[in-house]
This record gives sequence, structure tokens and C-alpha cells, in this order.
Amino acid sequence: MKLEDRIINISGVGEKTAKKLAKLNIRTIQDLIYYFPRTWQDFSRIQSIKNFRIGQDVIIKADIISIDNFRSAKKRINITHAVLKDDQENQITAVWFSQPFLLNILKLKSTWIFSGKIGFDFNSRKTVLSSPVYVKEPSIFPIYSQTEGLSSKYLRTIIKKILSQIKLDEWLPAQIVEKEGFLDLDLAIRQIHFPTSILDLSKAKKRLAFNELFLLSLKLFSQKRQFSTKRAVCIKINKDILQKFVKSLSFNLTNAQRKASWEIICDLAKNHPMSRLLNGDVGSGKTVVATMAALNSIKSGYRVAWMAPTEILASQHFENVSKLLNPFNIRIGLLTSNQSKVSSIKNIESSIKLNSKFIIHNSDLIIGTHALIQKDVRIEKLGLVIVDEQHRFGIEQRAVLQAKEANEVYPVVNPQDSTIGVNKLIPHFLSMTATPIPRSLALSIYGDLDISVLDELPIGRQKIITKIVDSINRKQAYDFIRKQINSGRQIFVICPLIEEVTQSYQKVTKSYEEITDKIQKQSLFNLDRKSVKKEYDKLSKEIFPEFRVGILHGKMKSHEKEKIMHDFMAGKTKIIVSTSVVEVGIDIPNASVMMIEDAERFGLAQLHQFRGRVGRGQYQSYCLLFTNILSEKSLKRLKVLEKNHDGFQLAESDLELRGPGDFVGNRQSGFLDLKIAKITDIITLNRARIWAKVILEKGLNYFPKLKSLVKINDKTHLE
Ligand code: ADP
Ligand code: MG
Repeated sequence: MKLEDRIINISGVGEKTAKKLAKLNIRTIQDLIYYFPRTWQDFSRIQSIKNFRIGQDVIIKADIISIDNFRSAKKRINITHAVLKDDQENQITAVWFSQPFLLNILKLKSTWIFSGKIGFDFNSRKTVLSSPVYVKEPSIFPIYSQTEGLSSKYLRTIIKKILSQIKLDEWLPAQIVEKEGFLDLDLAIRQIHFPTSILDLSKAKKRLAFNELFLLSLKLFSQKRQFSTKRAVCIKINKDILQKFVKSLSFNLTNAQRKASWEIICDLAKNHPMSRLLNGDVGSGKTVVATMAALNSIKSGYRVAWMAPTEILASQHFENVSKLLNPFNIRIGLLTSNQSKVSSIKNIESSIKLNSKFIIHNSDLIIGTHALIQKDVRIEKLGLVIVDEQHRFGIEQRAVLQAKEANEVYPVVNPQDSTIGVNKLIPHFLSMTATPIPRSLALSIYGDLDISVLDELPIGRQKIITKIVDSINRKQAYDFIRKQINSGRQIFVICPLIEEVTQSYQKVTKSYEEITDKIQKQSLFNLDRKSVKKEYDKLSKEIFPEFRVGILHGKMKSHEKEKIMHDFMAGKTKIIVSTSVVEVGIDIPNASVMMIEDAERFGLAQLHQFRGRVGRGQYQSYCLLFTNILSEKSLKRLKVLEKNHDGFQLAESDLELRGPGDFVGNRQSGFLDLKIAKITDIITLNRARIWAKVILEKGLNYFPKLKSLVKINDKTHLE
């Protein structure tokens, strides 16, 4: 058995299972053994059945006093009830759904250790133990994130089986393992899945976290080395033009904008490629700063490519930037998979789809989506690449826009440079954040990027009144919304789900055994999550039949989304019900209320993003956070949002309260390829960086195993 072997070749894994595993991104043996437990259940900490609170996670050792299957009246699913009794004669009923076979396992009078959550059964009006996991021996037990049809238990079994047949090769240089006192790789992997003690588990975590941060640092440093040898076009500073631009604006730049623009413009003038992140809060005015950089480059004779994560944003940028650059006689093209146009060519029927070559040829600034990085797209004389809301893009796609891959896609032709073809020049690179990144985190994630910060909002920005709303006050809130619409405003409604409960549970729920017990959660905790489709129906038919309501979600075709956004921008639609797709960058000055359903489901930073969609015009705006059940923790989190309007501070709080994965979003931590390490684990990160430098000093060639690892993942990181 080899690490690269496909999972389907293991006996016992059929095609169906392989497909399900693929949903978890598990395709090879390697993927599987690096599919670390989401958490570990320590069955050795047994509690007595007493004074349980609803929602509490408990572990008890108990006998089965009685066990029976029922059928629920409404949904006709199988329910198993078992009465459990501990050695102090305390009792509790355990409840499982759709697992009739339990009768054959949990035999009368047998003793087990159960671990589960305390819930409330509305039918019997009793406190129950919901869907507990059961084991015979007190041990530490891995719990894996599961998907439909693939239980944590199945994953546990198959991983155990594989580990019994494979031995992992150490690739970390011996001196590091020794000096740091690490477990060797094979042992660490075994311990992470099946720890023999809490101490061993923590050793395994430490070693595997180091792996990730070390590889990350190696990649960052080696790429930085490679990158620093590249050359870029020098784009001279066009002072007059820039001054004219600043004068043409209807507002004064903030000091932060001045400073950031200056940093960027100076970078462009150097002969090595800029790699800079513009880090700023919602509404801090990143667009103007990027536009100045674009203008400066274009006036020096270079093209600029500006990439946005969605079609809606790309066309919005096209409109805004066209206005900003109106006095400067610049040809701007829009290139997405569904739209293509050029500002300089007016009379072409919009129904005719221009081909990308034509667009590029006739534009100085090309704004677009992924369509910009198609293989056949070549942009000559490309001096600057701007990537907006950068975390939305996969790192590989970004890689195509920069560095050596970019060379092939975008040969930059500079007539003055005789080294063309030998030493190709590569474009400067400016990325912009969708969410302000806390300074502490920015350094560890983007330690190799230069960072400009817009930590100041333009003066006169109104505070958006933010309120947590109890569902009891829902009607009042609707009345308020009606008043707003009647006085001409527009409303956003955000829901966490599109429709399916299952799928979104995977994404948003953190709690134990989340997916299998969704039915039970609904009945026990009455967790009726809001979905876009249902809310849309409700709002358009029952609550606001007099207004036009639009619906927007990620599964819609892009031309449909486009139309919905257009109608909203044009004021035809008064309310838009959306998933988080509306999150980034959209600018609708007439919108005054952002209403968020199940607000506790979102991270602070993301909620702040949503909030940033309103208050962009002259009207007092409101953000209503709806929430049903609340733990103290999530209430505390939402309260932070009520009081605090500073994106950087919110991001820091979010980081503290939920951890970096939640703050930067899965995509971001995904691209860093961190499964177990925390980017905020500064101590390990520092060790990793130090060792990475030591190894690179010696030369990766001395460490062939390491070298191949770094190479395989070459594309995964460029910033
Ligand atoms: P973001 O940083 O979220 O991308 P934008 O660039 O979209 O923000 O800017 C938000 C709004 O603020 C735009 O309407 C823009 O014209 C305006 N704006 C930008 N800079 C200033 C400023 N210095 N003073 C006033 N308004 C500004
Ligand atoms: Mg923006």
C-alpha cells in the first residue's frame, strides 16, 4: 500500500463510498490518513447523571434498563429510546433517530460509556441524552467531520484499517526532529487518530502542526527567493496626472489613502515586482487607491488587469472606475464569461459578444472575473495586476496571474528592454482584502507581502445603527422595514442557507455529530434555520405582497444573478433575499436596512461585511441581527458588533472568539493548507520559520524528500 494509492483500491471501499469520500476531498490513502479528527472524545472522564443542563456535553457510564423502537407520528422516522442508569441509580433516557439496529447492539443490562449532548424532548417534556456515541472501554476517541452517508464511525474504522497496513516515511530532517523533541511522523499520525493518552495526543498535534507551518514557511521563503530574482517593468511616477486625478475627485483623500497610494506608486517605479496587499475596512476606499495605481501605469504605457471575484463586482467596478477615469481618456474593457464590452466603443449592440482578444486589444484597463485568466487570454504590455477581495480566489488562480506562470500567460513586452525572452518581465501585483486582516494575523499569513493599511474611514461616514432583535419583535421589525421602503429605501435580507438543511449544516454547524442528528436537533432544539427560498416565499407572499422581492444565491446562473442585482440597483426590487453571495463589495447607496437571519451562524468579520452593504448613501442605515437560540458566547459575539464599528477591531475580536479559521473563512485557511496548525500559534510559527531558513540556507537539494514535498505544492502558495 502506498500513500498515492487511490482509496477506491482498498478492499471494502466501493464506488459509492469513494464518491462520498471525494466530497470530503479524500481520494488517496494519503488524504485519508491526513483527514484528522475534528475533535477527540475523552471517554475516561465519566460524570454522574445529575444536574445536567440542556446543551451540555456529557459522558456517563450506565446500564441499559430498557430499550425500544418507535415510529414518530409526523415524519415517520424510527426513534430509539433507551433508559440508562448509572451506578448511583440516576437515570436518563437516550434518544436516537433512524438507527433501529441499535436494539441488537445495546442489549438489556449491558454496560456502556455514552457521550452525547443533553437535549429537551418536546413530546415527553423531558431532558434526554441525544444520539450519544457509545463505547465499551474508557478511551480517547477520534471524532471526524462527517458527510451524508459517511459517519464518523465509518471513517474511524477505515482509518484504523489503513494504519494497520502502512508505515509512514519520515521526511523532516533528523536534526529538527531531534532538537525539537518531536514524535516521528509515523507515530504522530497514529497518535492523532488513536491517542493513547491526552499527553500523547498533544505531542502528536504539536508535531503535525509544525509540519504544516514548516512547509508553509519553506514555500513562502523559497518563493520569495525566486520572486526576488524576477524583474518587473519600471513604471514612472506621473505626478501631474496623479495630481489631476486627486483634484478631479468629489472628495478629499483620507491620509491613509494618500499614504497607501504613495507606497504603491513608489513600488511600481522599482524594477522588481511589487507584491503588495491593500488591507482595509469596508468602505475605506480601496477602489480609489487601486484606480490611481492603474492610472499611473496606463499613462506610462502599460496595460492593467483588474480581477474581481464575481461578475456583479466586476461590472460594478467597470461602472465606478469608468466614472473615476472619465477625464483621462482611458479605454476600459469588461471581460467576464457572460459579458464583454469596451468603454471606448459605444455603438456596438450589447447583444454581440466581443471576443476577448478584441476587448484586450482595445483596452488599457481590463476588468474581469476568472475569464481573465483563461489559458487563451494574453495581455500584452501588462504592467500591473490588481486582484480585488483576494481571499475569494483560489491561490492557484492567483498564481496564474503572477510570477512564473504569469510569464507564460501574460508575456509582458517592453520594447525598451533587450532582455525579453531571456529574462521575462513580470507584472506588479496588488491585492486587496475583503475583510480587514488583524495586524497580528496579517504578518503571519502574509509575512512575505508588503502591506498597506487603510485604517481610516472617510470623514462624515454615518454609524450604522446595529441591533440584536429577538424573534418576538419580528413584527415590529417588519413594520419598520415597510416604513423604510415606503420612504424610498431598499432592504437586504441575509439567510445562512439556500434550502437544503443537510448541506448547510456541514458548512455552518460546529457542534458534535452535527449532520446525522439534524432531524433530532430540529425536534429537540427547534432549530429551524432560515433558508433563502423559504424567506423569499414568506416575504414576497405573506409579509410584503405589495413590494417586489428578489432572490439571490450561489446556485443561480450568473446571468440570473446579474439580472436580480440589476433590478435591485435600478430600484425596481425593494427587498433582496440573499445568501452570503451578497457579501463583498456591492455598492447600493439607496439600501438602508441590512437584516440578517440566524446571525449567530456568521463570523463577526462576515457580519461586518454584510453591514457594510448599507449606509453607503446619505440615508441613516440599520443592521438588524435576528437570532433565536443563543448561547452566552454567541450573544457576547453579536454584542461586540452592536457596539463596535471598526473592522480591524472586530476582526481581532473574531479571532479571539472563534479562531482564525472562522475569521478568514475556510477558503483562506484552506489555501494555507492548514489542517491542525493555527496561524495564530506564533510560537510554533516562529520555530517553523527559523528552521525553514536554516534548511534553505543549506539548500533544499540536500533534503530531497523535503524538496519533493515543497515542489508538489508549489502552486499552492504565491503570496
Ligand atoms: P472599499 O474599500 O470597501 O472597496 P470603496 O472603494 O468601494 O470601498 O469606497 C466606498 C465609497 O466611498 C465609494 O462610494 C467611494 O467613492 C467613497 N470614497 C472613497 N474614498 C473616499 C474619501 N476619501 N472621501 C469620501 N468618500 C470616499
Ligand atoms: Mg471594494
